[in-house]
Amino acid sequence: MADMDAHDATLTAPFAEPQAAKAQRLFSALRLLNQEQAKACAPYANMLYTLHPTWQEARTLDALPWLPVGLFKRAKLASVPDAEIVRELRSSGTTGSTPSRIFLDRGTATRQSRALANIVTDFIGRERMPMLIIDQSDLLNNKMALGARGAAVLGFSTFGRAHTYALRPDMSIDWEKIEAFLTQHSARPVLLFGFTFVVWQYLLEVAAAKGRSLQFPKGSRLIHGGGWKRLAERKISKEHFKQTIRTALGIDFVHDYYGMAEQVGSIFMECEHGRLHVPAYAEAIVRDPLTLHPLPQGQVGIIQVLSELPGSYPGHSLLTEDIGAILGEDDCPCGRLGRTLRVDGRLPRAELRGCSDTRAV
Ligand SMILES: [Zn+2]
Repeated sequence: MADMDAHDATLTAPFAEPQAAKAQRLFSALRLLNQEQAKACAPYANMLYTLHPTWQEARTLDALPWLPVGLFKRAKLASVPDAEIVRELRSSGTTGSTPSRIFLDRGTATRQSRALANIVTDFIGRERMPMLIIDQSDLLNNKMALGARGAAVLGFSTFGRAHTYALRPDMSIDWEKIEAFLTQHSARPVLLFGFTFVVWQYLLEVAAAKGRSLQFPKGSRLIHGGGWKRLAERKISKEHFKQTIRTALGIDFVHDYYGMAEQVGSIFMECEHGRLHVPAYAEAIVRDPLTLHPLPQGQVGIIQVLSELPGSYPGHSLLTEDIGAILGEDDCPCGRLGRTLRVDGRLPRAELRGCSDTRAV
C-alpha cells in the first residue's frame, strides 16, 4: 500500500494526537485507502459504486462509506492475489453461523502486530512479564486458519514470556500447571490474558464452585476481550467481573479491550478510568440504529469502526453489530488523547438484519 511511512508516527504514539488533527489526517488516509481498495477488489468496487455512487464527495470521516461487518461471512473479500496471503483469520461470530474470513498479506499482518504492540505497551509497559494464557493449551495448533481466540492469543503472546496455558485441551483447569507457574514467578508481576467468557466460565466459575482461589503477585494484570455477550446473558456486570478477579485472583489491574478479527491491531483498550481508547490510526463513530446518522457523544447506537491498518482486504470502514456510546474526546483523566467509548453489547438480530441488507455500503 502507498505511503506507509506516514503511519509510523501514529503507530509509535497511538494516543498522542489531538482529535481535531487526527480526524483530518485520518480522513485523507482513509479516502485514499478506499480508492485503492476499489481498484484492487472488484466485489468491493461493485458494491461501492452501485450502492454509494457519490462516496467521492465525502469531506468528513463520518461521510465515508462502510461495509457491514457481516459481509465478510458471505463473500471472499481480498484485494491481493492469493499468493501474497500469509494468513487467514476466521472470526467465530455467533454460534452456528458461517465465520468471517479475513485475508492478510505480509504488510497488513506487520502493521497489525506493530500497532497492537504500541497500544498494549502504552498500557502495560515494555517489560515482558511471565504470561498465563487463560485458554486451552492446543489452541494454536493450526496457525494457518486461526479462530478469533487463537488470533488474539497469538497476537498478545508477544507481550509476555514463559507462556503457560491455564486450561487443558478439554477446557478443564490445569491446577498443577498454574500452581507451578505461580511458584516460579512469585516475585514479580505477571500478565494474564484470555477471552472474557473463557476467563469467567472456565476459570472463575469453576474455581468458585471448588472453593479455590489463587493469589497472583502484586501488580499483576489481566487483559481480556471478546465481548460481554455471554456474560450479559448471565447478568454479570463489568463491576462484578472486576471484583471477582480481585477477590479470586488478587489482581487489581484489569483491562478489557474491544476488537474484532476483521480489524486486528486496532483494538480499543480500557484504561484505569474504565473508558475504551481509540488509537490514532483508527476511529469509532456511533450511528442511530434506524437512520444510521452519526450520533452525538453519550447517545447509544451502532458502532462503526475505521482503521488505516488493513491493506489486503476492504476492512477499513465497518459497521459492526455492536452498540455503544462515545464518552469523550481528548478528555480522559488518564491523559490519552482521542475518542473514548463504551461498548454495551450486541444489536438485537432483527434490527441487524435490517441494516445489513438495506444499507450494504
Ligand atoms: Zn483513559
